[in-house]
Amino acid sequence: MVRETKCAIIGSGPAGYTAAIYASRAALDPVLFTGLQMGGQLMQTTEVDNFPGYPAGIFGPQLMEDLRQQSLRFGTEIIQDDIIEVDFSDRPFRLIGHTGDITLADSIIIATGASAKWLGLENESRYFGTGVSGCATCDGFFYKDKSVVVVGGGDTALEEAFFLAKFAKEIHLLVRKDTFRASQILQNRLQQFPQISVHFNTELKDILGDGKKVEAVVLKTSIPNEEEKVLPVEGVFVAIGHHPNTSLFKDHLTLDERGYIKTVKGSSKTGIPGVFACGDVQDSEYRQAITAAGSGCMAALDVERYLSSRLENNGIFCLEPESTIATIITKNGITCLENITL
Ligand SMILES: Cc1cc2nc3c(=O)[nH]c(=O)nc-3n(C[C@H](O)[C@H](O)[C@H](O)COP(=O)(O)OP(=O)(O)OC[C@H]3O[C@@H](n4cnc5c(N)ncnc54)[C@H](O)[C@@H]3O)c2cc1C
Repeated sequence: MVRETKCAIIGSGPAGYTAAIYASRAALDPVLFTGLQMGGQLMQTTEVDNFPGYPAGIFGPQLMEDLRQQSLRFGTEIIQDDIIEVDFSDRPFRLIGHTGDITLADSIIIATGASAKWLGLENESRYFGTGVSGCATCDGFFYKDKSVVVVGGGDTALEEAFFLAKFAKEIHLLVRKDTFRASQILQNRLQQFPQISVHFNTELKDILGDGKKVEAVVLKTSIPNEEEKVLPVEGVFVAIGHHPNTSLFKDHLTLDERGYIKTVKGSSKTGIPGVFACGDVQDSEYRQAITAAGSGCMAALDVERYLSSRLENNGIFCLEPESTIATIITKNGITCLENITL
């Protein structure tokens, strides 16, 4: 089937649903594609304590259901499909779903999020949410006066360890190599945290528990003939990086060196007028539900202005500052002029 919409939103995390709430209230009749993980990353967690408006906290899946209902209330069409192909070279933009459905859209909001990288251990997924976490900002509070390990040697791992130092009594930082990948400035800060001990050349081999919670980890160093060691801990924070879900867009949009979509500072605009990005897919820095939701709001407002400026200009679209692509839309059709620096 072929459907047409003023605004297509790709992704059903906090960014996508918030964009949908704003776009539907602005009468843009948005169509939202959920992707394979309806509700996004928060579907994997239990308590969310830091989303404003919930003084007693809320379960991640319940929060996402509330956001879904709120976007439905104003008329968002929610479609369970995964977008597998995009074409931004012509107007309207074209999306193809896994179901084979084609969507023609005047504007696009990309909210496909990011995924944490995991070690791939069997017990890592078993104890996910009951001792294993990928986010200290989200779960650190639950480890007050407890012993934890943080896995990783980059900036993220050190920042996770610093954050945990506010709560945990003992933090073991496991670094696979004999040096950090983290910036020197963060390495220097380590001295301020006597509760963090660094274990170089050390890998996490297994996570042990009673079936309900984590009780210890098994460590192996790269020193020949050295035996594996069991370290009692109650939390495991895996901080070996994230990858943004941008493979679909890599040939169409400018990505930064880490693969995140580049947006014009202070907005959700990508290099293509009419295509906007919000949430974790364009944010390697904050990666929180509330920042994703905030940028979803920005994207919907940007879409609204983009669509109405097209109408006000009676068919001629103004050129985007800081864009490398100039697009001139005439009444009779569309001319896309690429690689024009404004
Ligand atoms: C275990 C865990 C616990 C967390 N706890 C907290 C917390 O307590 N507080 C907090 O603020 N943050 C927390 N976070 C971080 C928070 O979940 C993210 O920052 C937030 O979900 C990002 O929202 P998003 O909308 O950008 O993307 P996501 O939530 O990642 O959603 C991305 C969406 O895009 C969809 N998608 C991807 N590709 C496609 C495609 N090709 N076609 C269609 N759809 C697609 C997916 O199905 C998904 O619905 C946690 C994260 C994790 C993993």
